[in-house]
This record gives sequence, structure tokens and C-alpha cells, in this order.
Amino acid sequence: AAAADLAEIDRRYSFHPFTALADHERDGPSMVITGGKGSTLTDASGRDYIDAMAGLWCVNVGYGRTELADAMRDQAAQLSYCHAFSSMSSDKPALLAEKLIGMAPVPMSKVFFGNSGSDANDTQVKLVWYYNNARGKPGKKKIIARQRGYHGVTVMSGGMTGLPGLHAGFDLPLPFVKHVMAPRKLWEGHGLSDAEFVAKLVDDLEQTIAREGADTIGAMIAEPLMGAGGVLAPPPGYYPAIQAVLRRHDILLIADEVICGFGRLGDMFGTTTMGMEPDLITVAKGLTSAYFPLSACIVSEKVWRVIADEGSKAYGAFGHGYTYSSHPVGAAAALANLQLIEEEQMLGKVRSTGAHLQAKLREAFADHPLVGEVRGQALIGAVEFVKSKDGGPVGFDPALKVAPRIVKGALARGVIGRALPNADSVAFSPPFIITEAEVEKAVGAFRDAADEVLGELRR
Ligand code: PLP
Repeated sequence: AAAADLAEIDRRYSFHPFTALADHERDGPSMVITGGKGSTLTDASGRDYIDAMAGLWCVNVGYGRTELADAMRDQAAQLSYCHAFSSMSSDKPALLAEKLIGMAPVPMSKVFFGNSGSDANDTQVKLVWYYNNARGKPGKKKIIARQRGYHGVTVMSGGMTGLPGLHAGFDLPLPFVKHVMAPRKLWEGHGLSDAEFVAKLVDDLEQTIAREGADTIGAMIAEPLMGAGGVLAPPPGYYPAIQAVLRRHDILLIADEVICGFGRLGDMFGTTTMGMEPDLITVAKGLTSAYFPLSACIVSEKVWRVIADEGSKAYGAFGHGYTYSSHPVGAAAALANLQLIEEEQMLGKVRSTGAHLQAKLREAFADHPLVGEVRGQALIGAVEFVKSKDGGPVGFDPALKVAPRIVKGALARGVIGRALPNADSVAFSPPFIITEAEVEKAVGAFRDAADEVLGELRR
């Protein structure tokens, strides 16, 4: 079908995630993509775009890798589906679990597969509850999450997400989720040294625990580097300090590695980059480079021993799992994806191209009067625009939609980026295989778009 026809079909029959519904029903989609190769997407009219976001921080090995397509096709032909209920198993998920335990950033014991980051984080909460119930501490139910954290959209993971815009209209978060301060240097840490900022963040955590009671709190969840909430790396020393508090209060730590996992920060896991010591790890996105919806909860021996021994005694079977848990086609995609990352030494690429991205972003934006901060590391970055920054940052009126307008301007220049929710930040998280020339084109398009939008605002 022609591009205009496809857009009209989409407008008429579907509605989309994170989309203003009435606008979509009136205007239809902004574009209809029909192909992808490397870092480039092609729309129905044949126009190319550099995808500087790797989809939603996920197509890490790039589009159109035939190794993954072949692995999925071969697996679908050999064994298209096998459930994992009642101890049934199939070959690829077993091999993938072995692989994940072998590569885990801290010693881990077991893997449980799901379909998405959201459902995996839901599973983590159920594991925390099951663990605490099984060891006779049923009061430890509450989950500490962070303001601006993003953990998904199911009722539980959507509640743990700390972005008010994503709670609106949904009666979230549920009362047993408590949010602590985000490690956002520009705002919450303005004017503080790193050590002072760590102390402020730790104090906020301690106060929250004291207020709620440690015997009511089961776990804290945190992304090694916060993605959708603004591409926020914690200040040095943050995790060791936070972890000391959690340990003292018998509170588990869940590392949400959905974005960072499998190389985005230049190490295989953000846990390593940030010095985390999690009891539970969530992975999704980069596990298959989004060629198949697959996620996993990676579980430590500490949690495993209790749920396997005490949990089995108390409750019989573990009453949780999805039709698509341990999907063989997903596992085949993940195995092929991890093989590509290793064989093509993509972590080295992330580090070298990442250094180039960070340098180019700073060159293009750091001195701009309306840029509050350029941040990120390796192949993830963000630029935050502010109305002024002398004597503390002052944001633009959200109604001006500064970041969305800049993203729109970049799109008109053939580059796809992302405006982050609830802040005037634009994000970059390109495929690991993006070239330096493509990085330069992407940053240049954003700089031109920003100049145009900020010029309009000054008028
Ligand atoms: N956790 C993090 C850190 C994420 O970035 C995301 C998605 O962006 C999720 C969880 C949710 O994953 P999904 O969209 O696959 O449910």
C-alpha cells in the first residue's frame, strides 16, 4: 500500500503507546516505517532516517542482522513453542540461562524468563514478596523506587516508575511503593559536591526507611544509570553508600538493567560500571536487541535458597509464569544476539564510538546558553534545555514543548531522537554499530533543530 494509505489505515484502526490519543485519531502517525538496516530506518515513502535511539534503547546490534533472523527462523521451524510449566523445558532457554548465569556481573544462581521489562519487574516484586513471606517476614512488602526512575507500565512496575506523567489517569502508584530522590545533579544536586550530593541522597533514603519502618520494606529497585527519567548517572560512591543502608535494614536491591544490560555503558552490565551488588537483576531490551520480546529475572543464591526451600514447603508450586516464559524462539534470538556482541567485540565499539558521541554532544551543546547540562557516558547521552541556569536552573514552561519540538526538527532533518518525559531533555542511545559519521550527522541535526527552536523562543 502507498505511504498515505498506510498512515490512514493506522489512524483509523489503532491507538498507540505514549501518544496523545485525540491527536493520533485526528492526524494519524508521524511516519510509517517499513524497513531497517544497520542504524537506518526507512519509511513507506522511501525516506531514510538515522535512528539515534536504537528504537527504544534496544536495537543494540542494529537492524536487519540476518544472523538473528536466521536463528529465529531455524528455531521456529525446529521447535516454534514449548512452555516451561510443571518443569517442562526446551534446549535453547536452558542454554540461555546457563549463558546468563555465566556472564552475570555478580554471582547469581537462577534465571526466570518473561516477555518484557515491565512483566519482569513485576515478577521481581512477586519474588521479593514470596521470599519475605517464605522466611516469615510478611510485613516486608513495600518497594522503594526513585523519582524519575522508569521500570515499565504494568500496574506494579508502572507504580514503581517515578514519572508522574505516566501515573496520570491510572490511580498509580499503589500505596506500597515509596519514591526517593533521583540522582539528578543539575536540579537536586545543584551547587553540591559529589560527596555532598551522595550524602543528601542517602539521607533521603534513610529518612524514608525511618518513616515507613524497615520491617515494612522488602526491596529497592534502581537502574544503574537512569534512562527514560533523564539519562542520569549516579554520583561516584552512590551505590556503595545506598547499599550499606539497604543491607543494614535487610532490604533487597533489584538492579533494573533493562537499558544498561548487554553493553550500553561499555561494560556488559551497568551493575559493573556503577559498583552495584544487586540481589535480583532484570534484563530485557538488549537481551535480544529487540528482535524478540524476551526478558529475564536473574536471581541470587540468597533469594533462591529461601524461595526454593522455604517457599516450596509453605506454598507448593511457584504459582507464577507466563504462557511465553522460556520461549524457544526468543531464547534462540538471545543466544544469536549475545554471540554477535561477543564475536564482533561490540563493547569495544560502544566505548570508542561512545567517546566520540560524548565529545560531539559536548562540542555542539555544552556552551549553549540554553543548555543546562550535557550528560551521559559511552553510547547513551542526553542534553537538557533550560530557560536559564545562572544561580540555579529554571525550566521552560512545559506548554512550550521545547524538547518535543527539537526532536521534531531533527526528524525533519532525517534523525530520530527522543524527548524524555517531564523534562526538556533529548536523549541519544544509538545502535552499537553506528558509525562516527552517523553520530556526527545525528548530533548536527539536533544542534540545527535546537538552534531553530531556541531562536523561535527568543523572538
Ligand atoms: N525498565 C527500564 C529501565 C526500561 O527502560 C524499560 C523500558 O523502557 C522497562 C523497564 C520496561 O520494559 P518494557 O517496555 O519491555 O516493558
